[in-house]
Amino acid sequence: MVNTWGSVYRFYPEARSAHIERSIGMGAATTFYLHRRDDFDSALPGVESFQQTSLWEMLRRIWVAPPRYMEVPEPLWFQYFGATALVLLTCRLRGGLTRTPLTTVSYAIENAEISRIPRPLQRLPKWVWTTAARGAVRATISMFDRIVFGTSGARDALMDSLGSRGREALARPERSALIPALPAKCDCPDAHRERTVLFLGALSSRKGFDLVASAWPTVRKLMPDARLTIVGQGPQKNIAHMLADGDVGVTYLGPQSRAAIHKILRSHMLVVLPSQPANRWREQVGLPIVEALSHGCRIVTTAETGLTDWLRANGAAVLETNASVEEIARSIYEQLEAADSVLAYDLPAVDGRISADRWLLR
Ligand SMILES: [Zn+2]
Repeated sequence: MVNTWGSVYRFYPEARSAHIERSIGMGAATTFYLHRRDDFDSALPGVESFQQTSLWEMLRRIWVAPPRYMEVPEPLWFQYFGATALVLLTCRLRGGLTRTPLTTVSYAIENAEISRIPRPLQRLPKWVWTTAARGAVRATISMFDRIVFGTSGARDALMDSLGSRGREALARPERSALIPALPAKCDCPDAHRERTVLFLGALSSRKGFDLVASAWPTVRKLMPDARLTIVGQGPQKNIAHMLADGDVGVTYLGPQSRAAIHKILRSHMLVVLPSQPANRWREQVGLPIVEALSHGCRIVTTAETGLTDWLRANGAAVLETNASVEEIARSIYEQLEAADSVLAYDLPAVDGRISADRWLLR
């Protein structure tokens, strides 16, 4: 039997490039994943510690070569609840068998209230869903040793799904901490920025891409030299093509490598992401927002992100979720009119996710 005490396993059901990039600063670990997200860049440094696997193979690895720390998906990620519960149970059984500590940790950013029903279950009465969902969270929460919340919204959502005893137990300072999911400033060199807007991410109604497309003609009327760059792919790709075909100020680049995205970010003044809720889905943090912050870009978004309070206190435009197309256009215009093309955000020296990892693996 391989002795791996002292090691760290992470279970990320869906792996993406940001996970690989951040893993460089986090504790050395083997990361098991089931699926690749569209933006998974297999040429990134650090990718060699990521292993695509099946759930059963991962459980077998935990059993025969148990880690010292096991990071599991957060309790409110119901799509992977079964897999998470099996991993936690395996860790508990394996740790109990050898009486050696196996610490289970998690990083939580889900901020959707428990009452929001996943789309496949929407025929259920709301009380059936909430009773089952609360039961599932309460059944597993005692198997989590430590949790870091990346936003106050995530802490509220999880606490709200527990009873008063569960809340008290989880709130103990050795079991949970709130470490904001803010990035450190990127090492990218500063670049010249004109009145340029960037939409970065999935071209979908969840990310409000259709709203940006509808708002754009008004922005151009208010500011004829404004430019829009669109990076990404998704179901609304046709809208991106139509917009670019009809306006010389719009460029649609499709999906880009990570190196190219850094270059694009540092040459743009504003990132726009008017996220919209859909069924149980709610914007958690918003990777384009994090990347905009780390590159000093101005931001126009909606109050869906768990960083809303911080963003509002730090000069970003955070609109109400049901803001009209005209309000979005006006907000983009006002941000482009601002005197400073680059914002000096008050960011931590170390990326919040990396600080969270240090707390979890202490
Ligand atoms: Zn950069």
